[in-house]
Amino acid sequence: MKTSIATVTLAGELPEKLSAIAAAGFDGIEIFEQDFIAYDGTPREVGQHVRDHGLDIMLFQPFRDFEGLPEPERTRAFERAKCKFDVMGELGVDLMLVCSSLHPKVIGGIDRAADDLHALGELASQHGVRIGYEALAWGAYVNDHRDAWEIVRRADHDHVGLIVDSFHTLGRSLSPDSIRSIPGDKIFFVQLADAPLITMDLLYWSRHFRNMPGEGDLDVTAFMRAVMATGYNGPISLEIFNDSFRGGNPDMIARDGYRSLRAIMDDVHRSEPITCMPLPAMPPRPIIQGVEFVEFAASQTGADTLAAILLPMGFTRAVHKNNQNIILFQQGDTRIIVNTSHHDSAALADGAKVCDIGLHIDNADNAITRAKELRVPLFTSPLLSGELSLPAIQSVGGTIIHFIEADSKHQIKWHDDFIACSPAEPEDCNITGIDHLALSMPYSDMLSWSLFYTSLFEVQKHPIVDVIDPAGVIRSQVIESSDKSFRLTLNGSDTNRTLAGYFVESNAGSAVQHIALTTSDIFSIAEKLAGTGFETLAIPANYYDDIRARFGFDETALSAIKQFNILYDEDENGAFYQLYSVPYGDGFFFEIIQRVDGYQGYGAANAPYRTAALKRVLSQKNAPAR
Ligand code: MG
Ligand code: MG
Repeated sequence: MKTSIATVTLAGELPEKLSAIAAAGFDGIEIFEQDFIAYDGTPREVGQHVRDHGLDIMLFQPFRDFEGLPEPERTRAFERAKCKFDVMGELGVDLMLVCSSLHPKVIGGIDRAADDLHALGELASQHGVRIGYEALAWGAYVNDHRDAWEIVRRADHDHVGLIVDSFHTLGRSLSPDSIRSIPGDKIFFVQLADAPLITMDLLYWSRHFRNMPGEGDLDVTAFMRAVMATGYNGPISLEIFNDSFRGGNPDMIARDGYRSLRAIMDDVHRSEPITCMPLPAMPPRPIIQGVEFVEFAASQTGADTLAAILLPMGFTRAVHKNNQNIILFQQGDTRIIVNTSHHDSAALADGAKVCDIGLHIDNADNAITRAKELRVPLFTSPLLSGELSLPAIQSVGGTIIHFIEADSKHQIKWHDDFIACSPAEPEDCNITGIDHLALSMPYSDMLSWSLFYTSLFEVQKHPIVDVIDPAGVIRSQVIESSDKSFRLTLNGSDTNRTLAGYFVESNAGSAVQHIALTTSDIFSIAEKLAGTGFETLAIPANYYDDIRARFGFDETALSAIKQFNILYDEDENGAFYQLYSVPYGDGFFFEIIQRVDGYQGYGAANAPYRTAALKRVLSQKNAPAR
């Protein structure tokens, strides 16, 4: 079984696309006519160029509006097909996709279509090629793979088979299970695409919003399970029309494509073992059990700023025994490392950037094997001052993720490696852990990020929600482990005028913009922070008038949260309290939260208000310098 991707999925000129596809690990391509019509070279040269990249051309497409035509259009359609078969011979491809007709003159009728396909199969066999018939979800008469199969069955020709495409089946909410009764050798080709669930015109949805399997909301795994149950042994190909992919980085999109295909085939194999698995099986997704530490690369100014935030919150300070530029701030099992000895620390003149994250994981070896199979770059340079080397990978934005496993060699001996500074025992502020990390990124990178986490780890993603920033829309998506010991929010922005966009641009890429710490007593910590070096974000009075109206707060309860600039939310389970620091440097900040009675959200209702408040402070801070 071979892997393939349609050239139309990627941005760039044909040579650029081919390099990206070959580098990502695909065996071949589906070639779109427009791709090589625009290319300066004969079809024969194009074919050679593709093979020079070590790729096969597995499908030529599309051939439209063929079946069910009256004369003279019918004869013309056969003439057109003959020309295409000649081009295919030059290119060196033996399969053409014929999609169901939208021709204004098309006449319905299963037998008429079957007769036309039989005749086309005859013509194809004379040219040494085959044809695959696909039901477009918006085809005039044929828009269901069951009807397309019936036409192929009645055409009854060795050179005529079926092409199934997950989008056309799942996009119309058809059950893929009817595919199970089709003989696998009559399915000539399989195309995969996912899409976000948005109610809109099918054609428009398909041409602009498709994405990689696992990136959207369609059950592509169930579709592929049904296909594999037929005994299908042909190529599996990604055919993705997506506006942002077509404007994106072809290398990154091709890598994502390979990763998604690799992960979905493994999921299929895991649920319904495949006899002819195209690639070796992977270990199961490792389970993230929490965050062991977060490390900042910081300039001296950034390090001082972080100390002024963390010490008032009750973190102790310890210095690495071999490198006094590495400081550990710790409270219980919450650990934040501030490292001024990174090679790029000096460049962070204005502050600090999260460079490394340590994750507790149930099986680090599995995580590394799976990362390798998904072509995630591994990272081998040792951690901290060099003695310790944990298994690690590089995430999409460049942040290094280290794996720590309980009761194994993959552990950090915090007590042995760090020497406490005085005062050793500050006032306990009830910080009990890291609730979530919030990452900011260009909107175009969001799918790559979510695919990275969902393909590699046992996590669930939530639907994307819009958060209104005064200067634009932020798209926000939650990724969580099932026991919620690991929570992440991805925040994508289109413009550098938003808080997230400004941070991404200043930081030159995607990174952690805020860390949310959990407390068991928000009022106690708020009281302790007042008058310390920790600057709490001021929330406007209007916000509290709204809270009183929405949640029926009495004066006492309202003044308690208002006094400390605490934000409030509720869901069907419980209550949520949030407190923010002001932003530092390029817009990094801390959040302190308390979840009461199993509140599950992230205070999305409050996001526009705190975003506006953070931006006000940031622009005041930066005003003199700009
Ligand atoms: Mg298709
Ligand atoms: Mg947050």
